[in-house]
Amino acid sequence: MKDASPQTIHLADYTPFGWTVRDVHLTVKLSPRATRVVARIHFAPRGDAPAQDFFLHGEELTLLRAAIDGAEVTPEITPQGLTCPVPDGPFLWESEVEIAPADNTALEGLYMSNGMYCTQCEAEGFRKITYYPDRPDVMATFTVRIEGDEPVKLSNGNPADSGAGWAEWHDPWPKPAYLFALVAGDLRNHPGSFTTKSGKEVELNIWVRPGDEGKCAFGMEALKKSMTWDEEVYGREYDLDIFNVVAVDDFNMGAMENKGLNIFNSSCVLASPETSTDANFERIEAIIAHEYFHNWTGNRITCRDWFQLCLKEGLTVYRDSQFTSDMRSAEVKRISDVIALRARQFPEDQGPLAHPVRPESFQEINNFYTATVYEKGAEVIGMLKRLVGDEEYYKALDLYFERHDGDAATIEDWIRVFEDATGRDLSQFKRWYSQAGTPRLSVSEDFSEGTYTLTFRQTTPPTPGQPDKAPQVLPIAVGLLNPNGHEVVPTTVLEMTEAEQSFTFEGLSAKPVPSILRGFSAPVVLERDSAPEERAFLLAHDTDAFNRWESSRDLARDCLVAMVTEGAAPDTAWLDGLERVIRDDTLDPAFRALMMGGPTQSETAQVLHERGHVPDPDAIWDAHESLRQAMAERWQDLLPALAEEARVTEAYRPDAAQSGKRALGSAVLALQTRLDGGKAAEAQFASADNMTLQLSALACLVQAGRDEAALRAFHDQWQDDRLVMDKWFALQIAATTPDKAPERTAALTEHPAFDWTNPNRFRSVLGALAMHHTGFHAKDGRGYKLLADWLIKLDAKNPQTTARMCSAFQTWKRYDADRQALMKAQLERIAARPGLSPDTGEMVSRLLS
Ligand SMILES: [Zn+2]
Repeated sequence: MKDASPQTIHLADYTPFGWTVRDVHLTVKLSPRATRVVARIHFAPRGDAPAQDFFLHGEELTLLRAAIDGAEVTPEITPQGLTCPVPDGPFLWESEVEIAPADNTALEGLYMSNGMYCTQCEAEGFRKITYYPDRPDVMATFTVRIEGDEPVKLSNGNPADSGAGWAEWHDPWPKPAYLFALVAGDLRNHPGSFTTKSGKEVELNIWVRPGDEGKCAFGMEALKKSMTWDEEVYGREYDLDIFNVVAVDDFNMGAMENKGLNIFNSSCVLASPETSTDANFERIEAIIAHEYFHNWTGNRITCRDWFQLCLKEGLTVYRDSQFTSDMRSAEVKRISDVIALRARQFPEDQGPLAHPVRPESFQEINNFYTATVYEKGAEVIGMLKRLVGDEEYYKALDLYFERHDGDAATIEDWIRVFEDATGRDLSQFKRWYSQAGTPRLSVSEDFSEGTYTLTFRQTTPPTPGQPDKAPQVLPIAVGLLNPNGHEVVPTTVLEMTEAEQSFTFEGLSAKPVPSILRGFSAPVVLERDSAPEERAFLLAHDTDAFNRWESSRDLARDCLVAMVTEGAAPDTAWLDGLERVIRDDTLDPAFRALMMGGPTQSETAQVLHERGHVPDPDAIWDAHESLRQAMAERWQDLLPALAEEARVTEAYRPDAAQSGKRALGSAVLALQTRLDGGKAAEAQFASADNMTLQLSALACLVQAGRDEAALRAFHDQWQDDRLVMDKWFALQIAATTPDKAPERTAALTEHPAFDWTNPNRFRSVLGALAMHHTGFHAKDGRGYKLLADWLIKLDAKNPQTTARMCSAFQTWKRYDADRQALMKAQLERIAARPGLSPDTGEMVSRLLS
């Protein structure tokens, strides 16, 4: 049990552990309710650490015996760990504990999923396996012996030896305990191999439950592509003889980069055309790459403490987005990343959960695996690269790997590498790591006698604990177009460092049209009251694909705000401009599909909030519906031609070209459904031979209210496939009308296949409700109550997933007084649950503060 009174941990209090660990030998004797873990660990005092008691973390362990240098000892045990007097010099610590993996529903430490043993140790799960200094700056080599009847027994590193009922693994690379992993069960492998650029043969395996062997080929190819890419782009080679990936059904996160033994949520690795959508394939490719890239950015160079989480995550997210850009379309990837950033990170940064990329304090580190640490952390790396240039960036990275290989490093180390490699002073840039909140950037322009001046002003609104903000370094990528639509100044990165700063461009014959923040060069809210004509001009002429998309998005936002607040009609000038882009068959279909997408309803709510309105979810729903209807009617002659263009005749491939076409086809079908009531969707549903087409048709049928037969047919076809059934649950909530969303959710929680202890299934139902903007925000509060009921229930089993899902309430202060009161009441009800977990307790108290 964890202590009931949560403790706040501060970055400023960091002290190193008083001992180094030379090596760790574990013997794990598996048994569902009585696994024995025998640990033999060599400790040696380190002279450079302050004097301290010998303390080992340990939670929910039954200590059977402990010895120092062979002599039995009786440590003092608390709910957090143990203390024990130790010799002055080096010593051998031995302990034996008992744990019950079958009863571990929190899915942290060693647990069971469908009869298979697996582990999740990041951030602080290893302390539930044995007594240990469970902190990332303690690095050691591990030798692990696994004893049990399971046919497959895996751990980190290379296989050392095995016999009947046991297997031994040795990891030669010192690592922190959070990278420890163990898997045992009846598993089948999809084998592969890879030769590194220096000629080393690496055995690759993807391990799955029997029956899933046919869903591994794509993941294997993605792994090989990742290994090649990291060699070519970052010069990083793999460093063990074997690389294992395991798919697990019950998993709190997406995947975990344990050294040499990556463990994946099965939804993030298993794929086949029949059961996975194009989006699933792309996500799987990216997550395989992400976890593999951690081998260097995270494992070989790890974090000194959990405050430095962004050191590995921001950089690795940045690297996986580079990889996806190289494998697919860089422009489409950038737009998709910005959509995700605005949907997930901006609301966090603008609400009660706002925190810096490197937080300065926390109670429960699990609550800081956030969009800010990951996605904003990656944006910070992107800005750094934009400021120093590509060549200097890779020079700095080479130095980072050379200087810090084998280290537990900090953001200070990271910044120093860039300063040393480039000669720049980055002390102001470092504010991106310490200052929370999304900067607002406004701009004014002036033109006289051939000189064009852009004057920028930046402010960052207050966030919890940070009332006053200092100016940040902003790389602002700008291009200038002349009135004929030709680019007269190509993309130039302006480096803004002051609260207000002007930049001039000389020798222009006419007042140009500026294209500002190209490629979304800094994660800010750009506040610019430009005329709709200018946005339409950029929509038509900008050479920067991101800003072309952005100008349409701006026009869409303005249009929706006017529709919600003034009851205006849809903006036909914008729709005409958009139509020209959609019709342009020289453009990538994936890009045109994104152009047709438009803002989500929660994005409209956010824009209304930013502009000083109180968002009304029902009015937002109505505005979105009328806008989509207007688009469908306006383009009814265009849609059949686009549908034809989007048709794929070759065999299914999940590559960028084909999935772009199918994305365009789905966007078209959604509009067509508004005109034909679902006829085309029904035909597509009946003939679909891949999940992308089947699911997009089903979404249209749900949206049209013509879904009963299709939902039944889909259920009967896929009831034995857990991952497809997750889609079935989620879709019928996500695509339905607001009046039905809470009831459908409630009804689905009664469905026999609703296994609420499985995080994927829980999210597919309750997460879908939280994402249904108008359904969740039902005026009478029934959406809030339903979610709160289930979070209260889940917290007793799985605090980590519960705490994370509490963020559904993070925008509560944005809404009207009635809804605020209803949400607050539910948050208070969660807070009042007897025995509430520290994870959820921390989240709810931050939300209420
Ligand atoms: Zn990661």
